[in-house]
Amino acid sequence: MADTPQSLENKVALITGATSGIGEMLAVELARRGAHIVYTGLANSTQIDALNTKFASSSGPALFIPADLSAPGDATALVTTTEAKLGRVDILVNNAGVQHVEAVDSFPTDKWDLIMAVNLSAVFHATRAALPGMKSRGFGRIINIASAHGLVASPFKSAYVASKHGVVGFTKAVALEIAAEANLTCNAICPGYVKTPLVDGQIKDQAAAHNMTEDQVVSDIILAAQPNKRFVEAHELAALVALLSGDDGRSFNGAALSIDGGWTAR
Ligand code: NAD
Repeated sequence: MADTPQSLENKVALITGATSGIGEMLAVELARRGAHIVYTGLANSTQIDALNTKFASSSGPALFIPADLSAPGDATALVTTTEAKLGRVDILVNNAGVQHVEAVDSFPTDKWDLIMAVNLSAVFHATRAALPGMKSRGFGRIINIASAHGLVASPFKSAYVASKHGVVGFTKAVALEIAAEANLTCNAICPGYVKTPLVDGQIKDQAAAHNMTEDQVVSDIILAAQPNKRFVEAHELAALVALLSGDDGRSFNGAALSIDGGWTAR
């Protein structure tokens, strides 16, 4: 392995959901390694200006492409627009995700549809659109941010758990289809809890629902699942994504990589 961090110079990295939380950190790290960042997410123009500055790299200025990933055509258009503007997608990080916590017998059907569309179907549409170009150029990395909930379940998260198990299964199927290609891989990352706006929302909701303080929710509910009793740091995920993205990552294929402080080892 190289002594210095792998360079991703001149690679085009398309990252969904990079306007917040984990995706934002992934974009910062891939940009630091020289990748040309293309990203989407829900954000206003002031936020996008700030993110463009944050994600600029030696390969060029960052490019924001608006997309609502709950609409099937938008995930496909994200890839085709990137190819039209920058010539290719080398690294596709399917990271955008949404959550809703409620018992299955009262789970709102529109929330089910939204979670399936953003967390699972958009991964299919973007992957489907990106693979032909990756195959023709002989290089491609598809990295799907699943979850520990892609491997195990928790109550009241039926749609999220189903969507993330779907992402892990989809990842394995794609990996087998591309295994004979020269330098193409598809992997899933399964993080435990990372402190982002998505989790902050759950902490607030649980505190209200159980009449607990937010600190109690963190220690007694959220981190109860994680044996190391601390949140996963987004920069730890970013280091793993960077490894998978470069040449040192070429033998990972079809993996569901746990990074969860021991949660799924139980
Ligand atoms: P976040 O809420 O901070 O960020 C989610 C991102 O997805 C944002 O950029 C948002 O704008 C984007 N997004 C949401 N709906 C969208 C839509 N319809 N169209 C386009 N973009 C949309 O969440 P996060 O915690 O950073 O989560 C990122 C990913 O990591 C998700 O897939 C999540 O399931 C997964 N994950 C998170 C945790 C955690 O503890 N935070 C743990 C495991 C897995």
